[in-house]
Amino acid sequence: MCGIVGYIGHREAYPIVLKGLQRLEYRGYDSAGIVLYDDEKEEIKLTKTKGKVADLKAKLEDEINTAGTIGLGHTRWATHGVPNDVNSHPHFSNSGDLVIIHNGIIENYESLKKELIKRGYSFTSDTDTEVLINLIEDVKKKEDVKLGKAVQIALNQTVGAYAIAVFDKNKPNEIVVARLGSPLAIGVGEDEYFIASDASPFIEFTNNAIYLEDGEMAVVRRKKGVSVRQIKDDKLVDPYIQELQLNLEQIEKGGFEHFMLKEIYEQPSAITDTYRGRLLVDEGVIRMAGIDDNLERFTNAKRIIIVACGTSWHAGLVAEYIFEDLARIPVEVEYASEFRYRNPVITSEDVVIAISQSGETADTMAAIKLAKEKGAFVFGVCNVVGSSISRETHAGAYTHAGPEIGVASTKAFTTQITVLTLIALKLAKAKGTISKTDFHMHLSELETIPQKIEVALLSNDHIKEVADKYKEARNCLYLGRGYNFPVALEGALKLKEISYIHAEGYPAAEMKHGPIALIDEDMPVVVIATRKGHYEKVVSNIQEIKSRQGKIIGIVTEGDTSVRDLADYVIEVPDTIESLTPLLTTIPLQLLSYHIAVMLGKNVDQPRNLAKSVTVE
Ligand code: GLU
Repeated sequence: MCGIVGYIGHREAYPIVLKGLQRLEYRGYDSAGIVLYDDEKEEIKLTKTKGKVADLKAKLEDEINTAGTIGLGHTRWATHGVPNDVNSHPHFSNSGDLVIIHNGIIENYESLKKELIKRGYSFTSDTDTEVLINLIEDVKKKEDVKLGKAVQIALNQTVGAYAIAVFDKNKPNEIVVARLGSPLAIGVGEDEYFIASDASPFIEFTNNAIYLEDGEMAVVRRKKGVSVRQIKDDKLVDPYIQELQLNLEQIEKGGFEHFMLKEIYEQPSAITDTYRGRLLVDEGVIRMAGIDDNLERFTNAKRIIIVACGTSWHAGLVAEYIFEDLARIPVEVEYASEFRYRNPVITSEDVVIAISQSGETADTMAAIKLAKEKGAFVFGVCNVVGSSISRETHAGAYTHAGPEIGVASTKAFTTQITVLTLIALKLAKAKGTISKTDFHMHLSELETIPQKIEVALLSNDHIKEVADKYKEARNCLYLGRGYNFPVALEGALKLKEISYIHAEGYPAAEMKHGPIALIDEDMPVVVIATRKGHYEKVVSNIQEIKSRQGKIIGIVTEGDTSVRDLADYVIEVPDTIESLTPLLTTIPLQLLSYHIAVMLGKNVDQPRNLAKSVTVE
């Protein structure tokens, strides 16, 4: 998984490609590179390095020539070959004529490589990508075809996933792009074109974009436009130019030190955007086209299976409680990566809900395909509009959270829960499993959540103090019950991923079945103990930790006194109904891990070994 960007037109490509890489860095950041073709000097210039885009920029600052109106850039998340200078993209073909950037994996690269070696090709890197560019070169020479055709023939010999961009330095008037399983957008300007993994690199230049479908390729010609065709069937496709809603401000930090903090603070507005036009409190209605159009599939469903990975999986676990509680539909929540490789029992009476912020998660995508094959109705909950999952599913609902750049997911989680709550309420009403009064109460309570999150965010300074106290901990436990058990898992995940402190989430009552042995005076235990939902039981669990000298950080409802008496610290959140507490209790846990990571000097927005969207399995 990585970020790719390209430009062809009348401007200098370098600043556009470099800035584009900075915006796409969330997709991968172990090495970066740029290739530029200087049309006047007829010179091709490749610069690449292990490290971040900032390292690449520093390297390029010494260059005297960054001229050129055609260029490609790549920020890598290595799959084949360690992150080093040589394995970084772009990659040249053996002749030095063709150059490629690639996001994805060519699975049969080894057999292709052997074949190419027999035919006299040699390789400098360990990547699958260098094999692909030489395969393209080989086809081009053997078949004596144009670049576009050569790319098409070569891709038809590959197995795997890709978004690629290729050009020939002898014909610097076109870039050939293709996608299968990895995203690729083409920004369409006036006599200029932009290529990128998402629209953020070209948003200040054009609002018009073509999102290639899986299995499509395009030849993007300077001044002459874009021609799209299907890679397998060679059928020409009439490209659909979509008008983008994204604005630049949305993708920049807006005064916050990190994207993660900005995104934590954006949650009130993000949730408002999620329910805008859907939650109609005065009319007592929830309007969601994706559900309305398929209502019977849902109400007749024998079972809902939720497939997701990471934070989205935690949102799925919260949804399990909501769906079963309100709509009385049995729910199973599955890791997409496990589900796809089992032989799961799925029937046409099942509804599968796939959750993914990026809409590109490879395992979730595979789970969707499997569920479809077995006849289930598949519904997507994604954030990125036009993403692969949103297109692969039968219907869906966007979370409308806006771009999430911080690798540790925050607003994606709470907006996913919001969408899933709306769905559960809608189904509960349609099935008659909720009373009218209860339904209305849920609607008006959900409407107040953004304002209650604003209140929860006011504890930021206090949370900083707590962070300072526990930042040196090597381990941490997170406990919660019922609706807040998945929140405990999510809190632990946040701490692990950005501060590298080992943390575990448990249902509070499970503690006695093992984890309690870990508790001593060095072990901070974060306990979610809101007044709604098994409060007395959780207080007893807190007593048990206290008796073993554990350090207790309680997440409590405003005005709580019992936990305050027992805990070392309490962090308050406003009161709400039980099913909505996860939307509030998550907030202090996000802030806690954020501040600990900052205090430890970690790279909060780009934690080591991670990438934003996991587009490889
Ligand atoms: N498979 C390619 C590599 O390892 C591309 C990985 C990516 O998507 O960043 O270089």
